Amino acid sequence: MKFFLLSLPRGYIPHPMAQKTWTRKRRQKRQREESDRHLQRQEARKARQLKQGSDELDLEESDAHLDESLARSRRSKSSEDEALGEALDGLVLRYHRSSFEVEAGKQRFDCRTRSTTRSPHPDSTLVAVGDRVLIQPTPEEGEAVIVEVLPRRNKLSRSSKLHEDIEQVIVANVDQLVIISSLAEPYPKPGLIDRYLVTAAVNGFEPLICFNKADLDPDNVYQELLDLYLDLGYACFRTSADSGEGLDRLRKALAGKSSVFSGQSGVGKSSLLNALNPELGLKVGEISAYNSKGRHTTTNSSLISFNFGGHVVDTPGIKELSLWNVDAGNLQQGFPEILELAEQCRFRNCSHRHEPDCEVLKALDEGRLHPLRYQNYESILESL
Ligand code: GDP
Ligand code: ZN
Repeated sequence: MKFFLLSLPRGYIPHPMAQKTWTRKRRQKRQREESDRHLQRQEARKARQLKQGSDELDLEESDAHLDESLARSRRSKSSEDEALGEALDGLVLRYHRSSFEVEAGKQRFDCRTRSTTRSPHPDSTLVAVGDRVLIQPTPEEGEAVIVEVLPRRNKLSRSSKLHEDIEQVIVANVDQLVIISSLAEPYPKPGLIDRYLVTAAVNGFEPLICFNKADLDPDNVYQELLDLYLDLGYACFRTSADSGEGLDRLRKALAGKSSVFSGQSGVGKSSLLNALNPELGLKVGEISAYNSKGRHTTTNSSLISFNFGGHVVDTPGIKELSLWNVDAGNLQQGFPEILELAEQCRFRNCSHRHEPDCEVLKALDEGRLHPLRYQNYESILESL
């Protein structure tokens, strides 16, 4: 790059468009090379698998998503020349058998990408579940081509198993993280709630805390716990999938939004979804058990649309969502009251455990900081 600039006339300022084209060309070249390398690796892996008779289908599937973006430049030219209809706004609902199901208005389309598909995310999965896209229908009924991926508001991602430098987006454009806990069977675990609150804050999702199975807690034994989170400014819900308590309010909070339901197995995620939208007809326990260690039957994410607008993301890819992208530097974002106190600590990088003149420890001592929250902050910090 330096050499390139030195060989130019004195005073030369590269035209922004020229630079853009150059960057794009370099990016395309890199993608082509990566695609070729990947295909070679994939072929070698397939040959190995055949030889060993091993069954690595799961891995194949989870990376198929990425293959789609990397192999797109190998699509046949002829299929790219067909006449396309007018562009429509769409939402990617799921990825299945190398095609994307896209909802546009009231219609669903089976969509493929092309070498010409535009995306502002060159080093990432080309298209992900949750992406807003522009599609153009092909002459085939119910089929379309994704011509453009719109910028993502946020995302949940990981680095690909096969291409470490490439980001694999599990789901894009999530508005809120609905933290489901239950008031009995199992009892609420504030430690887990706080972990999810940190995850939400760090990843830019609005947190909602839902205490389900209210019917099993007629005496409001956990009112103090609810008040703790309410006082901190979090939106809290007391619901029952069985009696219907609190569902209207929760429905309003979910309408028109993209939500991820999280919480340990058995708190009632599937039951709540069914109660909120009975037409879904999910089997109890059907929604991916994000925290269970069990094997999942599917490795792909999907969006489940509500009949009152909005959708919930079902993805086994985020079973370990607790503490996603969290480190010691950003942990306090999930503890706004600690973050506020920390402004008065003597040291800017105070960990609030042993430092002198620590305002957080002082507040804890004086009862201005809830001991439960401090305890959870400390235990998360230690676990990082
Ligand atoms: P998930 O693993 O989080 O999806 O939880 P499920 O929806 O599978 O529910 C686990 C168990 O809790 C099932 O036996 C449900 O019938 C029960 N359950 C779910 N919600 C409620 C509720 O609001 N009240 C009561 N009493 N039981 C519930
Ligand atoms: Zn401190």
